[in-house]
Amino acid sequence: MTGVAEQSVSAKVRDFLAGTKLLYIDGRFVDAASGRTFVTYDPATGEHLADVAHGEAADIDRAVRAARRAFDEGPWASMKPNERERLIWRVGDLLTERAADFGQLEALDNGKSAAIASAVDTAWAADVFRYYAGWATKIEGSTVNVSMPFAPGGQFHAYTLREPVGVCGLIVPWNFPLLMASWKLAPALAAGNTVILKPAEQTPLTALMLAEIFEEAGFPPGVVNVVPGFGDAGAALSAHEDVDKIAFTGSTEVGKKIVDAARGNLKKVTLELGGKSPNIVFADADFDAAVQGSLNAWLFNHGQCCVAGTRLYVENTIFERFTQAVAEAASKVKIGPGLDPTTELGPLVSQEQLDRVTGYLRDGLADGARALTGGRRWGETGYFVEPTVLVDVKPEFSVVREEIFGPVVAAMPFDADDGIVTAANSSIYGLAAGIWTRDISKAHCTARLLKAGSVWINQYNGFDTAMPFGGYKQSGWGRELGGAAIDLYTQTKAVNVAL
Ligand code: NAP
Ligand code: MG
Repeated sequence: MTGVAEQSVSAKVRDFLAGTKLLYIDGRFVDAASGRTFVTYDPATGEHLADVAHGEAADIDRAVRAARRAFDEGPWASMKPNERERLIWRVGDLLTERAADFGQLEALDNGKSAAIASAVDTAWAADVFRYYAGWATKIEGSTVNVSMPFAPGGQFHAYTLREPVGVCGLIVPWNFPLLMASWKLAPALAAGNTVILKPAEQTPLTALMLAEIFEEAGFPPGVVNVVPGFGDAGAALSAHEDVDKIAFTGSTEVGKKIVDAARGNLKKVTLELGGKSPNIVFADADFDAAVQGSLNAWLFNHGQCCVAGTRLYVENTIFERFTQAVAEAASKVKIGPGLDPTTELGPLVSQEQLDRVTGYLRDGLADGARALTGGRRWGETGYFVEPTVLVDVKPEFSVVREEIFGPVVAAMPFDADDGIVTAANSSIYGLAAGIWTRDISKAHCTARLLKAGSVWINQYNGFDTAMPFGGYKQSGWGRELGGAAIDLYTQTKAVNVAL
């Protein structure tokens, strides 16, 4: 940590960062089996932030054995739903109490604004734990009125049980480290599973602080295990024969590797993958609201959002005025480190992401795109990129087709008479979409035609814990949040009794 960063964090965060951060396995903080550690960096400066025990296959195996024992032998499996409910609710309360610490730690490790990491990421994570705490007591099977045509005259009592899947591996990315972990942990635990969480190598810290909360809340050993490491640790978890399910959020490329790795024991897999989401602005939209909303669509979290609305389609009659307004708003965004309370746009998470995003910018500009604003790295320290609005783009450009995961939008005009849906749907992805119009009928008709798991009308990033979230096409398998997640962390047993 630099001197400035050190002054702006709480004593709790300073203490947390001192000393090597250990793996959390079977209710204890332990070194990696190899004794190795890795470094996590502050993306605002590129400087060393903390040393973290380096989890590898042997540590994943230890954690899986602990989770298996906790699942098979208890006390977790035999606990009453209302006992699980109380424990999970307590995690939500402790997160709320420590929201400022979590916000600062996330800001240091990921680069995002501490204020947002506290008020959005942590507050929402707490909400997710409370929402799923309530689900623990509401997971039900049903009775089935069977006909049993081959047993005429018999009497039967048939019903279903919803049971946990078992040992779940949860693999999360670096863009919303605490929040993505919470989206998986809370429903998995509410349904009675035991888990191994593998955070991203770039951002392992809030997951480890969360492990302290699970410990404090009183979860039995082995129910929650946290093993930071690299891709090989995720691969070991995905291939492990004693893991019953993998829930993954990250790139489509790694999602496909997970599907391959899961073949061995045909473990269940849910995937929340990449996107290249269309955001469609019709000429009759509320202009100012659409400008602000469109900016939020591609710039929130520095563009490091799977749902980022990075293909901005604007009806041709307002295209020029609208894109100028978006570019002007983007050029005024205050860039800086996440711990500075005036910062609106922080750094990208790593040198790798900086290289990737500036590489896309170079390719796009070489292809013939024009930057209305931005187009470059910002400053010489840290991994900052200027908010960039690209116009004069063609559908075949990589900046239009591929997920950039940085503060870059490609804007394209459309003619209302030609329809916009074909262009909007012309992507391998189908995660989210935005629509801006005052015409109710047009809004709903367009929403029906879009191939996307979430459609937001006259807003963007309109998430809620109770709303299912996930992808069409190559954006994923299954849904997170809402009751949908409970379905995917449980399996159904059919019981039929001859009376
Ligand atoms: P990623 O490689 O997909 O990382 C996601 C998680 O998977 C991390 O915990 C990662 O560990 C782990 N992992 C890596 N290789 C694995 C393997 N073979 N088996 C199992 N787990 C594995 O994403 P990234 O490399 O950090 O980012 C690359 C691009 O992915 C981004 O530029 C962006 O386009 C996309 N992305 C999408 C999302 C999303 O929310 N949809 C989130 C992040 C990134 P390590 O961190 O240790 O590699
Ligand atoms: Mg990675």
